[in-house]
Amino acid sequence: MFLVGLTGGIASGKSTVVAMLQALGCAVIDADVIARQVVQPRFLAYRRIVHSFGPEILLETGEINREALGSIIFSQPEKRQLLNSITHPEIQKEILKQILKYFVLGYRYVILDIPLLFETNTLTKFMKHTVLVYCDPQTQLVRLMQRNGLTRAEAEARIAAQLPLDQKVKLASHVIDNSGDLETTRKQALKLHTSLEDSMDFLLVRLLALTAAAGVGSVVYFLLRHLVA
Ligand code: ADP
Repeated sequence: MFLVGLTGGIASGKSTVVAMLQALGCAVIDADVIARQVVQPRFLAYRRIVHSFGPEILLETGEINREALGSIIFSQPEKRQLLNSITHPEIQKEILKQILKYFVLGYRYVILDIPLLFETNTLTKFMKHTVLVYCDPQTQLVRLMQRNGLTRAEAEARIAAQLPLDQKVKLASHVIDNSGDLETTRKQALKLHTSLEDSMDFLLVRLLALTAAAGVGSVVYFLLRHLVA
């Protein structure tokens, strides 16, 4: 099995392409969903956040007030670092659990949907391939204004806060151009899925896992024969 990092820019169509790939049967791990999940009350990160930031960042429901936390870390970089040091290990653990699940289920590859894949850049080294969902700047602006009901200036400010798509194109190993209609994008998603499914890259990890399992099996057999008998 191998990992494929999928990213985009705001309103470039990442969610649209993820839905298309899921409809084709792809395994997709959504980093945003996991990031929201690990700050829920039953998780370790929740307890650590409350311990470090105090109960005043809680809503009446007991859940973390994401807006309050957001404004604290926006104005205090050291608090952002503290929050990241709490949440990142938990997010990585959850991602790993899901990767293992898909590995056991026999998937040839898993897509990691990571909005800021190239901005944070910590996970790219684990990706066999990276995919950028691209659209041209004018289309991105119009789609963002329409989807979020924003003025041109507001939409431009949100786009400017990210690495420009033209720069991300240079960093990605595959690009899906979503500037056209949905059907044109669907064809590109299918082509990508077919080429990843046909790739033999998945075999290496399966062989390594098989070799490791055989090694463990031999040790257990040896112990049973020589120590237990
Ligand atoms: P992202 O997840 O990258 O922020 P979305 O997938 O939500 O972007 O797409 C942004 C908006 O553009 C949504 O309203 C979506 O329905 C619309 N959209 C996406 N792709 C197309 C397309 N090829 N043609 C027309 N509208 C599209």
